[in-house]
Amino acid sequence: MEEYTAALPQESRQPSAHDLEVLSRQLGRPVRDVVEIPARCVCGNPLVAATAPRLSNGTPFPTTFYLTHPVITSAVSRLEAGGLMTRMNDRLTADGELADSYRGAHEAYLQARNEIADRSGTGAVPEIDGISAGGMPTRVKCLHVLVGHSLAAGPGVNPLGDEALEAIAEWWTKDRCYCDGAWDTAGEAPSRDLSRHGPQGLPDIVGRPAPVRKPKSEAVGEQSASNQDGTA
Ligand SMILES: [Zn+2]
Repeated sequence: MEEYTAALPQESRQPSAHDLEVLSRQLGRPVRDVVEIPARCVCGNPLVAATAPRLSNGTPFPTTFYLTHPVITSAVSRLEAGGLMTRMNDRLTADGELADSYRGAHEAYLQARNEIADRSGTGAVPEIDGISAGGMPTRVKCLHVLVGHSLAAGPGVNPLGDEALEAIAEWWTKDRCYCDGAWDTAGEAPSRDLSRHGPQGLPDIVGRPAPVRKPKSEAVGEQSASNQDGTA
């Protein structure tokens, strides 16, 4: 089985100022409340950002692992456009073993979030107890979320995220750097907050992804579901 750059040692999970700048460039907007970098390119650049389960403005935030690398996000968007989520959902209905294993991924997601909450000092966030992301535990609604989870957790935790990673192998593999030219490195990093999080947060995030207001020109390209949208 492949091994991803997962389970990074604690010191390399800590986001540096440079990491935050790279994330802003990858996403085309400033990032907020990123507390860890759970997966990195072989060159060291972030692949995934971990956001605290409670934003600094108080909003509960269920999407803990956010895929940021533009090469991977576009590749995953291609899978979504090709109908992979529909096929996965059909299999989840028909295959009890897969459904069990996917439920296990949901539980692992919640546990990883609790650990991040402990490390980042946000404490318990009861508003999102039992709520993960991406459609887990019974549906697939955003492959980006599942791939972000697989990269963060390493192989063998999220079966459908692992499958999606294998399915993008013609565009991205963990053993090579695809960063060159993948985002704009000239000029200033985005510093004006164009994301949708207002200072007072969102009215009712529980059980439902927040509404999305995404500029069409976003550097990431298509980010499918609203679940993954609006990290930080
Ligand atoms: Zn790289």
